[in-house]
Amino acid sequence: MNDIAARAKRIAKFIEPLRVEPGRKVRLPKDFDPRYKADLMTKKDGVELLRTGIGLLAEYQRRLAAEDTRGVLLCLQALDAGGKDGTIRHVMSGVNPQGVQVSGFKVPSAEELDHDYLWRYAKRLPGRGMIGIFNRSHYEEVLVVRVHPENLARQKLPAEAKGKGVWQRRYREINDWERHLTGNGFTVVKVFLNLSKEEQRRRFLRRIDVPERNWKFSAADVRERRSWDDYQKAFSEMLSHTSTPWAPWYVVPADRKWFARICAGAILAHTLIELDPQYPDVGEDARHELALSKKELEQETPEAGHD
Ligand code: ATP
Ligand code: MG
Repeated sequence: MNDIAARAKRIAKFIEPLRVEPGRKVRLPKDFDPRYKADLMTKKDGVELLRTGIGLLAEYQRRLAAEDTRGVLLCLQALDAGGKDGTIRHVMSGVNPQGVQVSGFKVPSAEELDHDYLWRYAKRLPGRGMIGIFNRSHYEEVLVVRVHPENLARQKLPAEAKGKGVWQRRYREINDWERHLTGNGFTVVKVFLNLSKEEQRRRFLRRIDVPERNWKFSAADVRERRSWDDYQKAFSEMLSHTSTPWAPWYVVPADRKWFARICAGAILAHTLIELDPQYPDVGEDARHELALSKKELEQETPEAGHD
């Protein structure tokens, strides 16, 4: 087996326990342990695996861009202090910034509320050849909007779109949208950084105690924390209904930052490996032109002073 195939296999095996099988009923927090770290992996093994993942990502991103036919969308969801920013920073550290587009989603603007709820996400989708990362995503529409129904009230929906069954309807619409994207060349992969309540408490305290981290803290985060159980329920329902064969959810244990980063890198690398983008074959005519250009360049007299 060649080197890439061996690494690909190792990655596929590693992420398998994190994937939510379509149709599985998920109950958080009991179904996924935020402190899980595969086979008691040490941080040192982990760093090596992260390097493997990042190396593969860089190579596959070059291919994806050269092929210019398909795109990849990675959606990242987490509760506050879940580590989305750090994960993006580490996972994308080896790739060409021109091939990646990161979009964050905050409270919707008046203009955004004036459209259907998927509009603002559709506007930020990656183009062909690109990797798009959503730092928060259309899943906020079944998370924060569900936990705090006043958000739904602001969306100016007609009665039939906000009444009974609204969440089931949204799950279906989101699944359909992702299927449409997949069918047209855009692979969607979803990562939930699963943080424990205690680890969130510690991270908030650190943000308060360490002056350089103060800017990251907001009293609103502690207010959101009061809805912890409602969020766990909303996440459980979301995972149960929107992990599909074409766009699976992965639940990544997030209490150890280093482990979460390895997982996210491995999941993205796995997605690209499965896509297997290819450098285009330029064809006979283009090869002929290359040969002519080469001849012309070689016939020039080399300038002195260049080694
Ligand atoms: P940071 O890590 O910097 O805190 P963040 O993603 O938490 O990043 P914030 O500006 O703190 O950014 O928070 C954005 C807020 O916007 C979150 O509380 C999120 O739940 C909220 N939000 C996102 N999408 C929606 C939506 N569709 N409706 C209502 N609120 C939303
Ligand atoms: Mg925040």
